[in-house]
Amino acid sequence: MSYICPYCNGMIALNSLCPQCGEPLTDGGRLDDYSGPYSPYRQIDDLKLTNGYPDLARHQCIHQTFCGKCGYSAITALEERLT
Ligand SMILES: [Zn+2]
Ligand SMILES: [Zn+2]
Repeated sequence: MSYICPYCNGMIALNSLCPQCGEPLTDGGRLDDYSGPYSPYRQIDDLKLTNGYPDLARHQCIHQTFCGKCGYSAITALEERLT
């Protein structure tokens, strides 16, 4: 058994709304695909997590989400599922 991210695998779609304009947020994919774990650009602190590897420890997948309408973007920790 292993944990997989259902969002990365297209099993379920992101279901969040933009806090600025109310449009559905677009899932930009796993954050690691953009920057890697050591990138200075990562925004893990925004999630109020205490270490740099919450996705490994808590079985969460860190995704970049954004609003195609107003340009809002956010980092979201999504729950992985046990298969
Ligand atoms: Zn994912
Ligand atoms: Zn928006």
